[in-house]
Amino acid sequence: MLSGYSQIWQISELLRRKEISSVELCQEYFQRIEQRRELNAFITLDEENALKAAEKVDCSRHKSTLGPLAGIPLAHKDIFCTEGILTSCGSKMLRNFIAPYDATIVEKLKNAQMIMLGKTNMDEFAMGSSSEHSFYDPVHNPWDLSKVPGGSSGGSAAAVAAGLAPAATATDTGGSIRQPAAFCGVTGIKPSYGRASRYGMVAFASSLDQAGIISRSAKDAAMVMDAMCGYDPKDSTSLNIPSPRCVENLENSSDRLKIGVPKEYFTTGLDPSVSDIIMRALSEFESLGARLIDVSLPNSSAAIPCYYVIAPAEASSNLSRFDGVRYGYRSDSHADLQDMYKTTRTEGFGAEVRRRIMIGTYVLSHGYYDAFYLKALKVRRLISDDFKQAFGQCDVIMGPSSPTTAFEIGSKVNDPVLMYLNDIYTAAVNLAGLPGISIPAGLDDAGLPVGLHVVAPYLQEALLLQTAHRYQTNTDYHLLTPGIASWLDGKQ
Ligand code: GLN
Repeated sequence: MLSGYSQIWQISELLRRKEISSVELCQEYFQRIEQRRELNAFITLDEENALKAAEKVDCSRHKSTLGPLAGIPLAHKDIFCTEGILTSCGSKMLRNFIAPYDATIVEKLKNAQMIMLGKTNMDEFAMGSSSEHSFYDPVHNPWDLSKVPGGSSGGSAAAVAAGLAPAATATDTGGSIRQPAAFCGVTGIKPSYGRASRYGMVAFASSLDQAGIISRSAKDAAMVMDAMCGYDPKDSTSLNIPSPRCVENLENSSDRLKIGVPKEYFTTGLDPSVSDIIMRALSEFESLGARLIDVSLPNSSAAIPCYYVIAPAEASSNLSRFDGVRYGYRSDSHADLQDMYKTTRTEGFGAEVRRRIMIGTYVLSHGYYDAFYLKALKVRRLISDDFKQAFGQCDVIMGPSSPTTAFEIGSKVNDPVLMYLNDIYTAAVNLAGLPGISIPAGLDDAGLPVGLHVVAPYLQEALLLQTAHRYQTNTDYHLLTPGIASWLDGKQ
């Protein structure tokens, strides 16, 4: 039985039994995308190539046994280079950039025979928490169109939540997979730093950026993670270690899980209704045999200031390549070379990106480097040590993914500090290079999704997914949908 909100593992079974073809599946998703244009979840659709690729998979299915992801559609965040297809990164700067090659994770998922439907909308250069900072206009939250879907991977989260794709790739520098997953009521995992290749992923802050996946369940995430992670000689920070084998380990969860609950998470700034739902989730884990342990992450409050020094510093360096010469946009009106750089960058970048470049340049400049950048690096180490200390007492750490549920479009866009506070629970995890996941934990009084954030020790993605899977096997929050009539309801 198939519905618009079917999960990958279910669709995979239907394809294997030839109850549906990959071509039919893609056609249905494209129709659904068309019907939900108002979400603005996609920047580019690639129907022609998708149907061709789907047909190829359908034909080969008659001849041989295919892998579990073969013929399953997915969407890619528009930060990943896709050969021959626009890769805009949500920016005017790259609005005419056709990538000449595939990012490694795009290639890996292509090798697993997944079918790309298109590229999802996002905050420009992945800077933001609301997907409002896009050159291609804001994305809307499928649960309430007046609300943001979170960001920067808001297009990916909205697409999965609305049933426009069973899964979508995403990236997380300070929370951009987990926060939009929380706002849209879907599952989003950020692996440990170095697990998934960054080759062909437009760089924002190289020491923090990590690719991951947004899906409808931990079980689906495990399937995609196994296909997309792994060593890549083209990325010098990629880890040359065995893969996490998430699917194989999915059912191995312990009955005696020790859950660390940081006292710093439940203080002012956390919406009481979010807090209530997270507390309920924790007691649900307790009833599954887990033990709650009070832990402390004393430097939690330094995470946002530390992140907003390091991330802009790295961004200012990474974004220097957009100079109007090598690729992308070039301004028409300029007097000389210097002026060409200046006008190109002024016109090509949006306000938030320009703000980050200014901050980054400032904190790296002579005289301020020691006071800001170097200091932030030291704080980063303290934050990382806090986690090490806490993991001496527990297996995983849990808390809210975000202090509030989805907020009104326009309500924070002119207040950057308020916007930055969205990542108060997630950014520390990137600074420490750890894996984290957000899973749906229920709805607040307004009917908006709340995400439970689970963090595991370095390289323990398998434990993270086991824990999430156990919760999803015993609860139904991940099955809630935004109340949109499903496109395949008639077929049930
Ligand atoms: N919201 C954070 C920022 O604006 C994180 C973005 C991200 O993870 N890509 O930088």
